[in-house]
Amino acid sequence: SKANGRNRYHFFTEQMQQNAERIANLHTLLKQALEQNAFELYFQPIVDATTGLIVRAEVLLRWQHEGQFISPDEFIPIAENSGLIVSIGRCVRQAVMQTIVEMQALGWPMSLAINVSTFEFWSHELQDEFCDSFTDIIEGLGVEDFPYELITLEITESLLMKKHAHLIQVLNELRARGIKISLDDFGTGYSSLSYLANFPIDQIKIDKSFIDRLAEGERHLALIEAIVRLSHALNLRVTAEGVETQEQLQVMMDNHIQEIQGYLFYKPIPKAVFFELLAKQAVI
Ligand code: C2E
Ligand code: CA
Ligand code: CA
Ligand code: CA
Repeated sequence: SKANGRNRYHFFTEQMQQNAERIANLHTLLKQALEQNAFELYFQPIVDATTGLIVRAEVLLRWQHEGQFISPDEFIPIAENSGLIVSIGRCVRQAVMQTIVEMQALGWPMSLAINVSTFEFWSHELQDEFCDSFTDIIEGLGVEDFPYELITLEITESLLMKKHAHLIQVLNELRARGIKISLDDFGTGYSSLSYLANFPIDQIKIDKSFIDRLAEGERHLALIEAIVRLSHALNLRVTAEGVETQEQLQVMMDNHIQEIQGYLFYKPIPKAVFFELLAKQAVI
């Protein structure tokens, strides 16, 4: 009925209004959080499939407001749309590189993966700034030889959609320093296959959605097998993300996927807890 339709209309506009308010509110809070250094880095260990030992980790941003965690899936898009992501990204790189130096001093030279938003690469100017930031941060850290090979940058296919020479040049410059480039959420975007051949990358991460669908049947298994065969033919390392069950782990091992990330082994944990794990592992 008409009245019903009007109610629905009111409902939607109210909902939109509330969403807009929440976004504006979060944007203000994000800016404050950045000024007050209120973000925290969590570390999700990535393990060797056969030994179960921690071989590296992905760094994931955490933000608590008034005792509540706000998911990066909610605040990262707001940071991207407002441009705040550029400063946030720089803070993350700074903190991660400092952690790499600390870990090296403790005798755990371990590779850490940083998520990079496509928005941080939006313009040529930003791309150049991005490259230069590593040099600036290293100067600030006051170290002689920074182990660039311990940094992995996780990028997504959306970055590669605009294929132009400058982006390839930037990725090549990063790789020339020793930085590894990983293609995150592999298989969820479009024309993934051509990206594998055309862009200078070192590894891919199979998206959790593929792992989740394994239980649904043979066709999903065939897809994983094909991705792995292709990656290995192109000399790309493969990591599986979101492995939650023993069955999924077995499929990864059958397919010679050595690096596993997922709740079956570890959830993302605070730095102190991560360091405790590494200290224990070092004793073994
Ligand atoms: P992502 O890069 O795909 O990160 C993997 C996400 O999957 C993380 O969620 C991680 O906690 C979750 N995960 C890993 N293993 C499992 C599992 O076995 N089961 C389940 N259910 N989940 C698992 P998180 O930490 O909430 O991050 C969400 C997204 O936010 C990330 O997806 C990434 O796109 C973005 N993000 C996080 N930190 C940063 C950052 O520092 N910078 C940027 N630009 N984006 C970030
Ligand atoms: Ca990632
Ligand atoms: Ca991912
Ligand atoms: Ca993701």
